[in-house]
Formats: sequence, structure tokens, C-alpha cells
Amino acid sequence: MSEPMVRFENVTKRYGSLTVLDQLDLDIQRNEKVSIIGPSGSGKTTVLRMLMTLERINEGVIWVDGEPLTHMEKNGSMVPASDRHLRRVRGKIGMVFQHFNLFPHMTSLQNCMEAPISVLGLPRAEAEQRAAELLDMVGLGDKKGHFPIQMSGGQKQRVAIARALAMRPKVMLFDEVTSALDPELVGEVLNVIRQLGAEHDLTMLMVTHQMGFAKEFSDRVCFFYGGKIAEQGPPDKLFNDPDNERTKQFLSAVL
Ligand code: ADP
Repeated sequence: MSEPMVRFENVTKRYGSLTVLDQLDLDIQRNEKVSIIGPSGSGKTTVLRMLMTLERINEGVIWVDGEPLTHMEKNGSMVPASDRHLRRVRGKIGMVFQHFNLFPHMTSLQNCMEAPISVLGLPRAEAEQRAAELLDMVGLGDKKGHFPIQMSGGQKQRVAIARALAMRPKVMLFDEVTSALDPELVGEVLNVIRQLGAEHDLTMLMVTHQMGFAKEFSDRVCFFYGGKIAEQGPPDKLFNDPDNERTKQFLSAVL
């Protein structure tokens, strides 16, 4: 098998005396679609936050696209990564959050142009063209001049997806992206994610409570419990015939 796109190698994350990720090993292959499910507090969101290097891990190494994200080589040994190294490797990762996090004072087009210009140094015209194409792709071609306050939650989340894609990431992370939406708006966001998965070379990792979508969309589902993967496998197996008692309990409570 080729080198994984994402690798967690023996990763531990603690907050004080609380161990949130407990010697986690997780490989995600190129173009693989992986869903993370599990009870509240099991460490699901922490996996994504550590990939975004929003905080440092305590032990282990995270690799992205064959490079250590959390560490770098210096004089033949691995040392904690500099902020510059973190930023560079993290540039391969896009993330979409539960609460959209759009810039409120910018139109949807400007939201999608900002980082390509300021971080990648793209010329304005090129950034605008890329942003416009992505907004067309997520079905918002007629909302380019709208501000977040003028849009529904589903539309805002689709802008957030376009904004993340504008950085041309290799890996997309989705953190409960439909949890803040009214039920009738969930489908339009899931449709965009479905389309992305089908039409683009993207490795996708999503934390989700949408079991139906996880089942249909994922190549693999990981059930987290206590900062570890208690069980993982193809969705059909994990949802229909789980081996682990914790998985059975969780699924019988949520399905
Ligand atoms: P999940 O996404 O599975 O609900 P999280 O990864 O968000 O779980 O959190 C796992 C545990 O880590 C929880 O017990 C949470 O309270 C704790 N936690 C998360 N972030 C922090 C933080 N910044 N400081 C202290 N504890 C935290």
C-alpha cells in the first residue's frame, strides 16, 4: 500500500491530568473517506484540532503526505516543528467547522479570496476566478455578493466549504458540519460533500453525528471511545454487525 496521506503514530494529547487521545494510531490512505463517530468527549474533535495544529500534542508524531507535521528533522534527529514548518505542512489541510466561521464583513466571494491572496500570494484576479468557480460548484453562483448575514445556515456552510477548497488542500476535515443547521438544510450541505468526494482527489476525514451519511459515504468508519479507536471497519460491518460492546451500546442509543 502507498504511503498514507495522514498518519497518527502513538499520539497522546492531555489536558492536565485528562488524557484525551491515548496513544492513538490512525492511518488514512490517499483519497480515503473516513468518518469518526463516538460518544461526546471521546476525542473526536481533538483528532481534527491536532491535525490543524491548533495545539501541540504531548507524545507521538502526526504525519501528513509523508512529512512529519508535528516534528521536523534537525541535525539528523526529530525535534518539535517550528511554527513556520507547521504552517507549511498544515497548508495541505482544509477544515470546515460546525459554526461556519465566515468573516462577517466580507461577501461570500471575498471570504473565498482572502486566504489565497494573503497566504498563498495569489494575484487578485486569479483568486477571484478561483473563488467564483468554487462558489458555482457549491451551487452559490448567484450569491457571490451576499454577506453571511444574508444567507441561510446551509448556504453559509457551503461558502465555508468553498473557502477551504480555495486553498487547494489535499485533505479536508469536517467537524460536525451539519450540527448547527435546521434539519431541512442538512441535505444541501451533505450533497456538496458527496459531490466533492465523487469528483475530486481528496482525502476526507469527518466527525459526524449523521449516521446515515457516514454509512453511505465513508470507506471506513472509526468508533472512538476514551481517546482510542475502539473499533473500525467498513460501514456495513461496523453499523450492521459490530464486534465491540461499546460500539453496540453507542449505536443502539443513536440509531
Ligand atoms: P468529542 O469531539 O468526542 O466530543 P473532544 O475531542 O471535543 O470530544 O474532547 C475530548 C475531551 O477533552 C473532553 O472531555 C473535553 O472536555 C476535553 N477538552 C477538549 N478541549 C479541551 C481544552 N482546551 N481544555 C481542557 N479540556 C479539553
